[in-house]
Amino acid sequence: MGDLVNKLVEQGFRPPLVLRFPQIIGHRLQLIQTAFDEAIAATDYRGGYQGAYPIKVNQQQRVVGAILEQSSATGLGLEAGSKPELMIAMALQKRSNLILCNGFKDAEYLQTALHAQLLGLDVIVIIERLDELPLLLSLAAEAELRPRIGLRARLRGPGSGKWAASSGDRSKFGLTSAEMLSAVDLLRQNQALDCLHLLHFHAGSQINDLEPLRHSLQEATRLLLELRQLGAHNLDNLDIGGGLAVDYDGSQGNSSLSKTYTLEEYARAAVDEVSSLCDAAGEAHPRLLTEAGRATVAHHSLLVVEVIGEDGTLHQRHLAEPSAPLPTALQQAIDEVQSPTGSLAQKQKHIEALEQLTSSLFKSGQISLETRAWAESIERLALNKLRLESRQHDAPPMGIAELDNHLAETWYANFSLFQSLPDHWAIDHDFPIMPLQRLDERPEHRVHIGDITCDSDGEIRRFVADQRVAGFLPAHQLNDKPYYLGIFLVGAYQEILGDLHNLFGDPDAIEIQVEDGVARVDYHDSGNSIEEVLSQVGYDEEFLMRRIMAAGQAEHEERQLPLAKIRLIAEQYRRDLSGYTYLEPIESREESS
Ligand code: PLP
Repeated sequence: MGDLVNKLVEQGFRPPLVLRFPQIIGHRLQLIQTAFDEAIAATDYRGGYQGAYPIKVNQQQRVVGAILEQSSATGLGLEAGSKPELMIAMALQKRSNLILCNGFKDAEYLQTALHAQLLGLDVIVIIERLDELPLLLSLAAEAELRPRIGLRARLRGPGSGKWAASSGDRSKFGLTSAEMLSAVDLLRQNQALDCLHLLHFHAGSQINDLEPLRHSLQEATRLLLELRQLGAHNLDNLDIGGGLAVDYDGSQGNSSLSKTYTLEEYARAAVDEVSSLCDAAGEAHPRLLTEAGRATVAHHSLLVVEVIGEDGTLHQRHLAEPSAPLPTALQQAIDEVQSPTGSLAQKQKHIEALEQLTSSLFKSGQISLETRAWAESIERLALNKLRLESRQHDAPPMGIAELDNHLAETWYANFSLFQSLPDHWAIDHDFPIMPLQRLDERPEHRVHIGDITCDSDGEIRRFVADQRVAGFLPAHQLNDKPYYLGIFLVGAYQEILGDLHNLFGDPDAIEIQVEDGVARVDYHDSGNSIEEVLSQVGYDEEFLMRRIMAAGQAEHEERQLPLAKIRLIAEQYRRDLSGYTYLEPIESREESS
């Protein structure tokens, strides 16, 4: 991967870079389809399986396009959760293939869904709120269409995983039991009970354990059977939503970053639970649908960021002892810190005590700036020593993890956490991160990664490490060569949830195809220019240029700023508007000027 990044940089691409590998999407789709095919074959399930991709997880045209292309044999469905997503689905989906319409709907949304049906697409409108149903029925009657309708169930079960609140009876979505009955009445009154084709539930994203899902499957299957009893004879699809988890920390464990089951076990659970209840009732098996989002796209992309420097605090030089006599307490604290005896934890305590004492003596005016700088340099040297000493412990003593975290250096990387890794900031979601080069060298440093936003939240202090989460990232001594980090499994949700904090825009994205072990760039999508992000917050290029020229004119009139200088400033300003929002190497600035 390091070689690939070096080649990309030689070709003129600049980190931060999103690298997408569409072939991985194909592989993921195939794994999911095969797991269901095998579960169906093993249990003689007669309803079949249909996958659908929820567009909201990554709406990029190239991504949705790759998904549809790679799933042409299976005819993957698309799930839309809003009007814009429906408009994508309607334009991209192949004729007669499935579109599931979720989300809150107004008349325009429903009208668009009916138009998609008229265009030959297999559209199922899933009613999430009861008042959508009469609106749909009247619009369909006007258009002389028989709509295909689904109902989203608000299950009583607890849901599972980090996003469990999107299911269960307190959830924001779906119809309660009473509302289901009202929906059936309404459909019956409109002679449209035969239009009810699907029952949907979503038990939460990143479901880490199958047990709660099994309960939801039982509850939903019972609901489906009851609805059939009430006359919904065409109710032949059970859509079990998304939630198939990704093992972000590699632990295969019961953490919100992982999962306790395999893909095969997930498919088998769905098929088993549904078939056993249907068989017991002597009813036909419904077609099973899933809306697996993150399990489809998370793996296919990674973010490459370049380390641009380190925080110098741990590398301060040892200063000369100040001429003024030291307060006794400070002298004692320094002696303790410099004592070679004691455990790591004791040494850490002494260092912390020195830090606090130095700060309070300075605030109360008892030591000068010179003495403070000297005491701080002793503190940092002691920290560095402690850091090296702690590495020799294979079985770290109690408290060593905190020590590691405390002693980790901060390195800065050229990216915005808010733009490229928003879930880490917003919901403490960790992603695997590792250096992309020198993997045959022992990493000597323990680091935290700070981004380039002016925000102290823009920092990574938790890292996926050897099937657990650690408080630092092992990294190599920096040298005069570029140092890149890969942040993996970022293909789901991160690109679209990212925001423009500090006006750092979309990074460049590159699609890579690998054939016979050789990687080549298939497509390149330029990230946002400064002008683009400024226009998103209402600044138009000409307006900005007029303001710059007016400021120059005023300086010229009042302080005789030469006109040639003003022209130079304006030209540079205009050039910068078309530049990258991230830091650029000096050479590329020179090239562009
Ligand atoms: N379907 C629905 C209705 C959802 O709300 C979601 C996400 O929350 C998904 C599918 C995709 O979930 P995931 O990405 O966990 O598979």
